[in-house]
Amino acid sequence: MYYVGAHVSASGGVENAPLNAAAIGANAFALFTKNQRRWDAKPLTAQSIDAFKRNCDEHGFAPEQILPHDSYLINLGHPEAEALQKSRDAFIDEMQRCEQLGLVYLNFHPGSHLRKIDVSGCLRLIAESINLALDKTRGVTAVIENTAGQGSNLGCRFEQIAEIIDRVEDKSRVGVCLDTCHTFASGYDLRTADACEQTFAEFSRVVGFNYLCGMHINDSKAALGSRVDRHHSLGQGEIGWAVFRYIMQDPRFEGVPLVLETIDETIWADEIQQLRRFSQGEVEIA
Ligand SMILES: [Zn+2]
Ligand SMILES: [Zn+2]
Repeated sequence: MYYVGAHVSASGGVENAPLNAAAIGANAFALFTKNQRRWDAKPLTAQSIDAFKRNCDEHGFAPEQILPHDSYLINLGHPEAEALQKSRDAFIDEMQRCEQLGLVYLNFHPGSHLRKIDVSGCLRLIAESINLALDKTRGVTAVIENTAGQGSNLGCRFEQIAEIIDRVEDKSRVGVCLDTCHTFASGYDLRTADACEQTFAEFSRVVGFNYLCGMHINDSKAALGSRVDRHHSLGQGEIGWAVFRYIMQDPRFEGVPLVLETIDETIWADEIQQLRRFSQGEVEIA
């Protein structure tokens, strides 16, 4: 079964996210469980948690169809002790919010060395941060997202993700989310079926599909290897349709949330439909 959706708004309360997802014909979604641009957040109320669970139930969203995303402020590899602690506390809070909502994933960007420590030192800090958070929560998998490699962001090479996973103690609660835009911008070609074959074979060899817990389905405004993170609507960017057809016709991508973060939310319903058509064997764009 393919789970396809988008990163929908949770404004007015997390309980609105499943409603927004259902409205565009999704059977997967992503959400922020708090304002993603602020450090502080009010705890979730019992009422909001109940309404979230009820709305998910009513619209057929099981926990494995939902990929919550953490705040953009968090840097689990921060080179400075105080800032690192702040990020770790915020991340644990996010993991606990997911736990309260009955969710099983938390998607996050690994972290940045800010040119103050070396890559392997930063990867070690990130893994340690994950270990601390897993220790304080139950049932939620920390899902590392690959990045475009913009600035000093780590996680743009599959090897870096593998190195983090290698240092995580509980391997049953660490996973990976591949973003097609980030993958492409960081230098892995996805423009043809052959290129996809090679790129995903490399992912399989270096990381392993057993760790895949979700995908972000985005075209890219920026060129191959540009290390610039600019999403585009499907088929309208530098990648084109081939990778989206490939994903929807390869069973390795079934059973995990496939989440649009494309720039025009007014066409999300159409993009979801097109992806579903691919999964039914269609090759043309409607
Ligand atoms: Zn993404
Ligand atoms: Zn991005």
